Amino acid sequence: MKTILIRNVFFKERHVDILISGNRFSHISPAGEVSYEADEVIDGEGYAIVPPFYNMHTHAAMTLLRGYADDMPLKTWLEDYIWPYEATLTPDDIRKGTEIAIREMIKSGTVFFSDMYFEIPETIDVVNRMGVRAAIGVTFMDNHAKAVRNEKTRFIEEWKDPSGGRICLTAAPHAIYTVSAEGLKYSFGLARKHGLKIHMHLSETLGEVEQCIKEHGMRPVHYLDSLGLLGPDVILAHCVHVDDSEIAVLAKHDVTVVHCPCSNMKLGSGIFPYRKMIEAGVRVTLGTDGASSNNNLDMGEEMKFAALLSKTLGDVECLPADMAFKWATRNGAMGFGNDGGIIEEGRLADCLLIDTSEERMQPLHHFMANWVYSADSSCIDTVICDGRILMRGRKLLV
Ligand SMILES: [Zn+2]
Repeated sequence: MKTILIRNVFFKERHVDILISGNRFSHISPAGEVSYEADEVIDGEGYAIVPPFYNMHTHAAMTLLRGYADDMPLKTWLEDYIWPYEATLTPDDIRKGTEIAIREMIKSGTVFFSDMYFEIPETIDVVNRMGVRAAIGVTFMDNHAKAVRNEKTRFIEEWKDPSGGRICLTAAPHAIYTVSAEGLKYSFGLARKHGLKIHMHLSETLGEVEQCIKEHGMRPVHYLDSLGLLGPDVILAHCVHVDDSEIAVLAKHDVTVVHCPCSNMKLGSGIFPYRKMIEAGVRVTLGTDGASSNNNLDMGEEMKFAALLSKTLGDVECLPADMAFKWATRNGAMGFGNDGGIIEEGRLADCLLIDTSEERMQPLHHFMANWVYSADSSCIDTVICDGRILMRGRKLLV
């Protein structure tokens, strides 16, 4: 079993030595107190260690559509630009787009992403090779040539994780406006039969809510609830336009919500109901959405923008830096029921080393304030996932 010692690193206002054994943090002790033997030693002097980001909603290969269609509302953007372009993408395109996405994510401190796209064998292959974690969505859409139900079902039934625990599948019914009630019941049922989480878009725009009320006589969260579909295995991206009664239902069913502030701002979708979600105790996580509506995959920006956007409502105290950080890290791991997203003995050995000598990190009055409000990805020196060093000295090793 390979061991890595990170010596004398800044962690929660003190300096510690951290030993990684295999893919777990095995020992954390005050700096210099214990002498560990290790295969590889990293001098942590001048660095702080933090858990990496969990990007809970993205479409990784959409890096290929970065800058292709901008400054227009979601419906026009999707129907007139994105969907026609996507119809031309080949499996090889998806592979290249995913590689770009993973390089970008590692460089900006993300080691886990929850994806929703097509040609998923290509995506799985790239994730496996590049050493990150991912939940790969098997996308269901009615009347879509690349989301044929029988093929998707067979894929789920026959799939085996090639990575030794870093990759899982989700069932990903795209949205309530692209999947019928019958299709939703089918994909949710299939997920539950195979112990998969369910990942879908919900209540991203006012138009979606109005259409749902017109067609089903109720708002989107109530619609899913009326079909008996909500539960702690459900991960809903956006949830911008949800009223008080819907938020109560999300909390009651222990649903995970993915807030995507940059995408919501760029597509003019609206502002997330921060205080109501927090007060109701909903598990909120963060995601970038695809690079065509963001236009990058930098979770540090999502963390900062979430905190700032909440303050534009005049409510400067509701989402402090520590909570935004938890949304971007630990809450994502909890949404997937894995024990990463936190640095503790016995946990998955995923971490970032932050260069505290960078101008953006100085002075260190309050590390977390610097990390959330001031830092950018240039402050990330090292990225470790599953006990493997993916980036060192800002150089990608994968
Ligand atoms: Zn999306």
